[in-house]
Amino acid sequence: MGIQSWQLKVKKEATPDLDGLKKAVASCTLCGLDKTRTQTVFGVGNPNADLMIIGEAPGFYEDQQGEPFVGRAGQLLTAMLQSIGFDRNKVYIANILKCRPPNNRDPDTQEVELCTPFLKKQIALIQPKFLLALGRIAGHFLLDTDQPLARMRGKIHQYQNIPLLITYHPAYLLRNPADKAKAYEDLLSARQNLS
Ligand code: SF4
Repeated sequence: MGIQSWQLKVKKEATPDLDGLKKAVASCTLCGLDKTRTQTVFGVGNPNADLMIIGEAPGFYEDQQGEPFVGRAGQLLTAMLQSIGFDRNKVYIANILKCRPPNNRDPDTQEVELCTPFLKKQIALIQPKFLLALGRIAGHFLLDTDQPLARMRGKIHQYQNIPLLITYHPAYLLRNPADKAKAYEDLLSARQNLS
């Protein structure tokens, strides 16, 4: 067996572990957000994706449907991906938190601390070639910093030896469409680093 086909096999065998992790998340009550969630929102997409997108936490529609980025922000994310030639179904999308914080408030420190071991495991199983973080909360966790988003975006960082780029969250772009051009520059940079 050649190295490439062996690597492919090893990567494909990640799927059952991903299913096991999804089941563990579905029954998780660690931080207390289980009391207000409709369901957990584990992640969606291609488990062998080269590009993994990491958002913040489920919102109202995500909590209802059990899938990340399905509301207006999700539609914008799909369009953003299409603008650089990526099909949403070919990437993997997950969030820092797997349950919706009430009224879409920001995740608190303890929730992030308790939930992110799931995300770390997800990243380790998917083994993406590139991470695209959407928004301040995802950037803060992946870079272990509290810098403003403007200081985090526009450059390639590393997370566990995986190149990482941080850009605006689509929900922010819906409120601040003037920054869409800067987000597009970031996406082009991600595309360039993946080719
Ligand atoms: S947000 Fe994460 S840690 Fe909290 S209950 Fe949901 S899955 Fe568990």
